[in-house]
Amino acid sequence: MQQGIMELMWRSSHVTGSNVHYVEALYEQYLDDPSAVTDEWRDYFDELSRQEGAPSDETPLSPIRDQFYQLGRERRTAVAGSTPVDSEESRKQVKVLQLINAYRFRGHQKADIDPLGLRDPKPVPDLDLAFHQLSKADLDTEFQTGSFFLGKDQAPLKEIVDALDRTYCRSIGCEFMHIVDTEEKRWLQQRFESVRSAPDHGDDRRKQLFERLSAAEGLESYLASKYPGTKRFGLEGGETFIPMMDELIQRAGSYGTKEVVIGMAHRGRLNVLVNILGKNPGELIDEFDGKKLIERGSGDVKYHQGFSSNVMTPGGEVHLAMSFNPSHLEIVAPVVEGSVRARQDRRDDVDGGKVLPINVHGDAAFAGQGVVMETFQMSQTRAYKTGGTVHIVINNQVGFTTSHPEDARSTEYCTDIAKMVQAPILHVNGDDPDAVLHVTQVALDYRQQFKKDVVIDLVCYRRRGHNEADEPSGTQPMMYRKIKDHPSSRAIYAERLVKQGVLSEDEAKAVVEKYRDDLVAGNHVANALVQEPNTSLFVDWKPYLGHEWTGHADTTFDMKRLKQLAAKMCEIPDGVKVQRQVAKIYDDRRKMQGGGLAMNWGFAETLAYATLLEQGHPIRLTGQDVGRGTFSHRHAVIHNQADGSTYVPLQHMADGQPRFTIHDSFLSEEAVLAFEYGYSTTMPNALVIWEAQFGDFFNGAQVVVDQFISSGETKWGRLCGLTMLLPHGFEGQGPEHSSARLERFLQLCAEHNMQVCVPTTPAQIYHLLRRQVIRPLRKPLVVMSPKSLLRHKEATSSLEDLANGSFNMVLPDQGQRDASKVERIIMCSGKVYYDLANWREENLRDDVAIVRVEQLYPFPKEELIETLKDYSGVTDIVWCQEEPLNQGAWYSMQHNLRIVADSLKDGLGGQLKFAGRPASAAPAAGYMSVHTEQQRQLVEDAFNL
Ligand code: AMP
Repeated sequence: MQQGIMELMWRSSHVTGSNVHYVEALYEQYLDDPSAVTDEWRDYFDELSRQEGAPSDETPLSPIRDQFYQLGRERRTAVAGSTPVDSEESRKQVKVLQLINAYRFRGHQKADIDPLGLRDPKPVPDLDLAFHQLSKADLDTEFQTGSFFLGKDQAPLKEIVDALDRTYCRSIGCEFMHIVDTEEKRWLQQRFESVRSAPDHGDDRRKQLFERLSAAEGLESYLASKYPGTKRFGLEGGETFIPMMDELIQRAGSYGTKEVVIGMAHRGRLNVLVNILGKNPGELIDEFDGKKLIERGSGDVKYHQGFSSNVMTPGGEVHLAMSFNPSHLEIVAPVVEGSVRARQDRRDDVDGGKVLPINVHGDAAFAGQGVVMETFQMSQTRAYKTGGTVHIVINNQVGFTTSHPEDARSTEYCTDIAKMVQAPILHVNGDDPDAVLHVTQVALDYRQQFKKDVVIDLVCYRRRGHNEADEPSGTQPMMYRKIKDHPSSRAIYAERLVKQGVLSEDEAKAVVEKYRDDLVAGNHVANALVQEPNTSLFVDWKPYLGHEWTGHADTTFDMKRLKQLAAKMCEIPDGVKVQRQVAKIYDDRRKMQGGGLAMNWGFAETLAYATLLEQGHPIRLTGQDVGRGTFSHRHAVIHNQADGSTYVPLQHMADGQPRFTIHDSFLSEEAVLAFEYGYSTTMPNALVIWEAQFGDFFNGAQVVVDQFISSGETKWGRLCGLTMLLPHGFEGQGPEHSSARLERFLQLCAEHNMQVCVPTTPAQIYHLLRRQVIRPLRKPLVVMSPKSLLRHKEATSSLEDLANGSFNMVLPDQGQRDASKVERIIMCSGKVYYDLANWREENLRDDVAIVRVEQLYPFPKEELIETLKDYSGVTDIVWCQEEPLNQGAWYSMQHNLRIVADSLKDGLGGQLKFAGRPASAAPAAGYMSVHTEQQRQLVEDAFNL
């Protein structure tokens, strides 16, 4: 087999006499990296491999190469007229091509990307002539340039080396040879090599650059003089970031982008808000003066604030949204992605051309935080992709006080993680605005062209401490000695422009003064701010604003239509071969629709979705196994057994229906939950659900719950209707899979910030999900969702319950008990209700009423008091829970339960009893026998304590 391609090649007219070595080297390069050879050679090699007898794709490369060399040697020996001189020339030619490739691979290691010159200059032997057995004596010899974009096929070696050096070793160090795709690699090579990484931007553009650079510096120096020592996490040392952002937005606009969403931590944020998004400097000053700026809520510090505005670009108006951000670095990145995806979905922007995500990172956090990896991992998946993100690392070479690379990371660069998705990584010296501009343009063009992530590493420094009250030389003496004497990027650029005759010194000064005058006068200082923004560019949140908490909503639905929808959601086209158990589920659902079978959880939940779609609400459901459901109750995605294709009945309910999106997620909690938070805070009319495989898995995303879901509204006034379905229930599955850590959520509840519910019937989940969207109120909903109850024979409902019912925050005792004979009330929530009800039945305890609290927060005090009011002879009142004493609802809820107990005739608040597992360090026992005994005991306690 392999013999074939070799024979073909050696028979070919290309391979004769003195160019044997040359072709041999080209072929070797081609095998390493097809983009390293010219189009003609690549076509030639590609063609050879397609011819009869050529090795298949699976053939390992090394045998091919061996074969090639073996045949080559034979051929060389046989070729007459192959003179030593020719061989030497062609050998050198090969070495020149290898040198070119070495620059592409390793030029960045020699590049001048650190403004402070602190980078440890490790030797890069591959870039030396001697390494390639070339010498100065060869510098005047002409060589073929191969695939190097030099504008000619041949050039003297010194010209080649000079061009390589200028392209790959000056202010830009680019890493792209890790990319496998030949087209992408060629594209990047062409963009850098054809202009030696230094295109002529023209005088006007460079003056604009200088103006934005002066704005960046001007804002910081103004704030420093007006509020010395006040925390602002200034951008000083990284000012070229502002012209970079300006260029990204303007260029995106000219591509037809309509919205840009920006995520960034605190460093430089105020500068972006004022100089890019056009926040009024006066407003910023008010924040510095400590004024309370929002009517409702507790607010946040100024360098966490988000902002929205519209700017004009060559392609029209563009809406900018800066995400609100907590102190937890990097977590905003997936939030931005979610917000972008929501905007893209709203616009039916399938390839991401209309909405651009820009995520700005710090070098230490980019290298250190796991969520960065998760965010890259999601970037090309069906559920989460956004057509590529432009990542910018403001690399000031220090994280708080950690700067030594040996402490900060194990990778060479802080950006190495991006290689996992083969993103190009463009390192650039922050003191060279011309290079920064070029890199910015290439980065955005790459994203637009290939719809993939790209990273700009803006290597700069931090002129002051971590914040303005910090003295950095205590921990970084050498670095700060350097910084002290280092002129600002603006000063360096001004000098360059003056020297090159682009600008006079007076003009440079005037730019600085004008900016300062504008600031003092309180004028907007962003360049292209639109004063009267086109509001159709973003979602109108007015219908959702200003609603007080209510647990009530009209979630009823016309019975006739409900039945039609129930039938429709069970329709599966003939060509879809359904697996046996799944077919049974759908058969049962058809029976439930016809009234022949009691409705279960999966049916009611699916019908909630069907009715919401009918009423115009898009639905997005993601999580680790949501298609099937962890416990196989959902099967919303049918896998055709004939060909593996999928069919989603809820996507075929009606022509023109809203989007029903359902995706199994990759195995992440932190980034995906943050993504869904971002999505739901941008898409208010949608039902957005994240389901955990097991409830406790949300603890991998605790930061999202703490810093966004539970507190985003009070900190930032941002509403969120996200629903979390967290399987919860003590069923002997051990410590990790029993509890969704209810107590954690309840401890975070205050000011009606979110809802925590434990529905126990199909009708309850149906109305709960519908209430979440039908009501204009937007509040996160945390559902302790069931496992065994999904199939419990008593956990059923009727179509009548769905058509005419509502979500009951409290479920009264079931049955015909005489209220005046009840002596004990057990309050509980969740699955334990069914254990209690069974025990009562078995033990004939008609003196006990069992009341379910289905919404734990906001606590339904009135509803519970109303439910208990007829029990006039009660002497005992108990809270029963499956969770241990120190977990579950008890500690967070007992003050409310006591108020309710006090409302009873004899005021029993002080005697409220607890029945549950003893306090425990782990959520649940690992042994089934222990579990069973504990469960028996706590149920008995509820009746007998
Ligand atoms: P954005 O497109 O994110 O900049 O949002 C545009 C405007 O919509 C903002 O200025 C807010 O007034 C409003 N808005 C956006 N998201 C929310 C939210 N989650 N809650 C309340 N208002 C919002």
